[in-house]
Amino acid sequence: MENKDLEKGFQEILDGNKSWVEFVANDTTGRFEQLAKGQKPEVLWIGCADSRVPANEITGKKPGQVFVHRNIANLCIHSDMSMLSVLDYAVNVLKVKQIVIAGHYGCGGVAASLSHTSYGVIDHWLCHIKDVYRLNRAEIDEIAEDEKKVDRLVELNVKEQVFNLCTTPIVQKAWKNGQPLAVHGMVINIKTGELIDLGQNYSGSESFDPIFRF
Ligand code: ZN
Repeated sequence: MENKDLEKGFQEILDGNKSWVEFVANDTTGRFEQLAKGQKPEVLWIGCADSRVPANEITGKKPGQVFVHRNIANLCIHSDMSMLSVLDYAVNVLKVKQIVIAGHYGCGGVAASLSHTSYGVIDHWLCHIKDVYRLNRAEIDEIAEDEKKVDRLVELNVKEQVFNLCTTPIVQKAWKNGQPLAVHGMVINIKTGELIDLGQNYSGSESFDPIFRF
């Protein structure tokens, strides 16, 4: 590599892995041999791609315990094949019991959705959040501070994504078949590390419009 900065950055990745390899080698519990054979996580985490909100660290879980899907602003879009593939595998093959949709205060994706700036291809993705704003315009417009507007929209976005997730045929069919599966909408406070329960907790289809049932 010709660029010294790039070379240094790559070396840091390799060095970081050396520390991890050493940690794995010193483990005496046998869990890594076990993990090499397969996974049986009980949690599916759908979070923001933001580098500050790592699923395992925030929930105190070890490798093998959380199945993770992350995208910008933790969206669950009914036609997003990437999210649907993760969800289908998590629910129907891994049989996870808990799904957490985690937003975070100060989310750049949510903030961008409240602006009129064009950011390129992501504008299409942000339309989904603009829709959440449109549905809650009266409440958001009442808030004076921009930062607080974003944080409230972060919460409302999580609520909307929980609705989207719970009304997917995958989750609806799991509930119809009596599969134990709980969905939770939460928000991370990056400053304190706290994962805040938004009271969006569902384990059956009764809270949702019957049109979504099978
Ligand atoms: Zn974010």
